[in-house]
Amino acid sequence: MGLPSAPLRSGRLSIDLTWTLRFRNVKPTEMLRTPNDLRAWSTSHGLPTSGRLNDHELEQFREFREVLFGAFTRAADGLALPAAQRRLLNAAAALPPYRPALTRTNTIILEHDGSGVVAALNAIARDALELLALQDGRLRRCEGPKCALIFHDESRPGTRRWCDTARCGNRVNTHTYRQRRTIRTDEA
Ligand SMILES: [Zn+2]
Repeated sequence: MGLPSAPLRSGRLSIDLTWTLRFRNVKPTEMLRTPNDLRAWSTSHGLPTSGRLNDHELEQFREFREVLFGAFTRAADGLALPAAQRRLLNAAAALPPYRPALTRTNTIILEHDGSGVVAALNAIARDALELLALQDGRLRRCEGPKCALIFHDESRPGTRRWCDTARCGNRVNTHTYRQRRTIRTDEA
């Protein structure tokens, strides 16, 4: 199975991080395998890092991803978050954040301490807190077969069922089509 080159986009930073471990139910596929993967993912999400990232920082990121996935799954199922889960989210939201700074050419850069990984975690945690506080019933599990992704439905009607219609919606449709065809074949 080839890995997609571009990171998947959910529309929410914190959900995007949970999408970096794919096929959880069938064949867990890690997208953040090296510190360089982490840097590429962060950069592509507007979260600058600098210097060399290390394995400990990668591990910190992956661990926080699992905290997020646990929290989003519970919220999607309409369950309250355990105190320990809330503490971990709150602790990450309290980490030193990026500091926006205007440059000589009037562009904004994000300054940070150390490698920037801590500030990136802070930004992701704050996005997660805002998302969970919405309590809008739009945080859902994808209905795609074998898909374990959580998504936030930002469509106007609010009736989205899949993490991505092109990916999982089509699979469902193809599956249904195959089933119909099989039934027809049996009948013939
Ligand atoms: Zn899906």
